[in-house]
Parts: sequence; structure tokens; C-alpha cells
Amino acid sequence: MNVGEKERETVNLVSMLENKGPACETKTLGNYLWDDLPDPDKWADCVHCGMCLEACPTYQETGEEQHSPRGRVYLIKAVAEGKIDINEAFAKPVFDCLDCRACETACPADVQVGGLIEEARGQIRQAMPLTGVKGVVSKTVLNGIFPNKKRLDRLGGFMRFYQKSGLQKVARKTGVLNVMPSHMKEMEAILPEVGKPVLGRYPEEVPAEGESKGKVGMLTGCVMDVMFSDVNEATIRVLNHNGYDVGLPKQQGCCGALHIHAGDRETGKELAKKNIEAFKDYDKVLVNAAGCGCALQEYDELFRNDPEMLPLAEEFSAKVEDVSKFLYDNDFKRPESEINTKITYHDACHLAHGQGVRFEPRQLLKEIPGVEMVDLPDADRCCGSAGIYNLTHPEMAGKLLDRKIDDIPENVEMISMGNPGCMLQIAMGVEKHGRSEKVVHTVQLLDWAYEKDKQQVKS
Ligand code: SF4
Ligand code: SF4
Repeated sequence: MNVGEKERETVNLVSMLENKGPACETKTLGNYLWDDLPDPDKWADCVHCGMCLEACPTYQETGEEQHSPRGRVYLIKAVAEGKIDINEAFAKPVFDCLDCRACETACPADVQVGGLIEEARGQIRQAMPLTGVKGVVSKTVLNGIFPNKKRLDRLGGFMRFYQKSGLQKVARKTGVLNVMPSHMKEMEAILPEVGKPVLGRYPEEVPAEGESKGKVGMLTGCVMDVMFSDVNEATIRVLNHNGYDVGLPKQQGCCGALHIHAGDRETGKELAKKNIEAFKDYDKVLVNAAGCGCALQEYDELFRNDPEMLPLAEEFSAKVEDVSKFLYDNDFKRPESEINTKITYHDACHLAHGQGVRFEPRQLLKEIPGVEMVDLPDADRCCGSAGIYNLTHPEMAGKLLDRKIDDIPENVEMISMGNPGCMLQIAMGVEKHGRSEKVVHTVQLLDWAYEKDKQQVKS
């Protein structure tokens, strides 16, 4: 019997003595008192070897044990053993974690630090709900806007108006933006041109070019479809060009990753249920945003204590794949036209560490004629974006961004990646450091090459 099983058995015994019924109705574990308890199996195999320490960006920056994966696992376990309370001293290191999963890649014992962090945050947010301005902002943005397609569309509409009406130029000239915190101002400076969301504008099924090889579903995302609808359009074109009908079911919505990272697991579950239902008729669900893809692949984890939802979530998670991996594994069409450029590739944490996808996107790029790849040192070290970490922890996020930009080789013209958060963050770094590299999504490069192929056929 491993440590996790022992702890579960203890919890069950206590529960039975208190006449609370069988294990599935157990509600507490040490000082964790709410539903959806952290899973003891996830820390059971930690042998405190410390091999994760040097992989952890927050440990690298602070050198403090409680800001290391090993320290965080220890603290999470200590609450379960009733040795420490859920209080600010516990909450800080847990929320200072980027949830980047670099420690999981480094760990020889497969300790699931990311999952533990998310479960612990769920308990913390119930023990210590956000209050004041933080509570209002969290409710307005995370609960009020992201899960609501109409409000997201209105936000996108406002941003388009702000950019196109001249308001943005006026705001920048008059210095009115100086009232914002500096990191928000830096973010405003690199806002991409906001287009119209794909979901609802495109038909629910976009047919393949030529003979169809099959149908795939595509998650359009919330931030992705507002800020990077051009990447969604490129993804649809690339899949169509490769012979796939692309399904865009209207009932889909935000993946819930930001809510789960913030400890709001209930909203995360509501959003997950919506997506599981929306894609029930699809055998494959493709995602072009690493953070969203990782969250969808972990819906089974989210529902591990829900016997009704678990089988549906397991079936769903098994269907989810990153678009770059899908294209590579399914013998994507090699473009013939040249895109003469030098590119470096940044590994989004939730693609490299979260999904184990590193080779495939690089191969897609390498096989575009004319593309020269230049290695990025520490390509899989977090850029500091980490969902909304760059908003909640601007100082640490800024340090990580500076390191990332310092590592970008001098002679490249583009930086490619597979996650919208990283695209915004790295674009912000390029601007801040006076660099000139273009930040692109991997499928955009492929799309440009295919478009050139098509132009050549026409001429
Ligand atoms: S989390 Fe993994 S790598 Fe880190 S101390 Fe524990 S066993 Fe070692
Ligand atoms: S998820 Fe990232 S920041 Fe958090 S403990 Fe692991 S390596 Fe460190």
C-alpha cells in the first residue's frame, strides 16, 4: 500500500467512524475541508530528491525552498496531514507558482505538481475567498466575461472600435494611459489588431478543399477568438487544405483553464461540461492554444471525483490534440513555395511540459522550404505569461520575460509558438527591449506557405 492509499484509508476510517458513509462521500482531508480534495496519490511518490529545483523558474529567481516544486508539494501535503493551516503563508507559494509544469518534465517520479497546485488553489479559494477589488475584478472578468460569448464579442467589438476609431492614437498621445500600471500599459502597446471572432461568423462546418479525409472539431477559445481570430482563420484554412472538414460547434466556449488555475474549479467544471456536450459528435477535437489544449486533456482529472461525469470526461480528453501534432502525425501536405526567413521556436509550457509536444511543431516549420531554424536556448522555460500570471504577478513575469528576450538569437526575423498568451507576452518583450522580431503562431507560417502555393497555381 503506498502513502496515498494509506492516507485515503485513514480518511475513509474517520469518515465511517463519524457515520459519514463510504469513501466517495468523504469531505475532508486534514485541513482541507471542501469538496474536490487534493489527491494524495499525486504527492505519494515524491522522494524529495530535488531534481525539479533547477527546472523551476520561481526557484531559479528566488532560491527559496517554498517557491520550489518540492517545497510546494511538501506544504500541500502538510495541510493534508493537519500540520499547517490554510492561511496566507500557505496560499502565497501556491499562487506564486506559474503552473508551468517544468517540474513535471524534470521529476523522475512523475509527481503531478501542476494538478496538485490546482487542487490546492481550489481549497484555498474556498477557505479564503477573494475580497475587495481583487474579488470584484475576478468576478467581473473570469466569471462575467470569459464564459459568456455575447460579452466576449462585445469586448472584442469595443477593442476594434478603440483601435480603428482613432481613440487608441488619442489615448496614447494624450498620455491618459499613464494612469495604468506600467505592465498594463506595456500590454496595451502590443495589442494585436482585433478581428472578428470566427465562432458564429463561420458556418458550423467548413468543408475541406477537394476530397474530404474526415471531420475534425476545433476549439476556437475565448481569448484566442477575440485577440487572434486571424490565427483561428489560418488554422481552419490549413486543416481544410489538408483535406479536413472543420467543425465549429456553436455551443462550445471557454475551456475553463484560467478558472481552474485561479482556484475556481466549479466554473471550470461548468465550462468543461459545455465543451464535452458541444463536441460529443466528434472523434477528434483540435486546439491551437496550448493552455486550452492542456486543460481539455485534463477534464478527466477535473471530474475524477464525479462518477457520472468521469467516463464522459475521459472519452472527451482522449479526443483532444494540438493541431501541430495532428498535422504532423497525419502526413501534412508539404508546402512547395519558399518562405525565406530565419525563425526560432519557443516552447509554450502547456505544449512542451503539459502535452509533451515539442518535435512536431518544429518539424512543421523545418519542412517549409526556405525556413531556417535557429535554436532558442532554454526554449521550454516559461516566458512569464502563464494564463493571467503576468497580470497578477507582474514583477516575476517581467523577470522571466526579460530572460526569454535575452535568449532570443540576434539574427532571427520571427519567433514562432503555439499559444496566444505566450504570443502576447513575447510581443510585449520584443517591444520593451526594442527588438524587431515578428511573433507568429506555427500554423500561420504553414498557412502563408500554402497561400503562396495557391497563388503560384493560379498564375
Ligand atoms: S517533485 Fe519529483 S523531482 Fe521534485 S523532489 Fe519530489 S520526486 Fe524529486
Ligand atoms: S509548475 Fe512551474 S513554477 Fe510551479 S513548481 Fe513547477 S516548475 Fe515551479
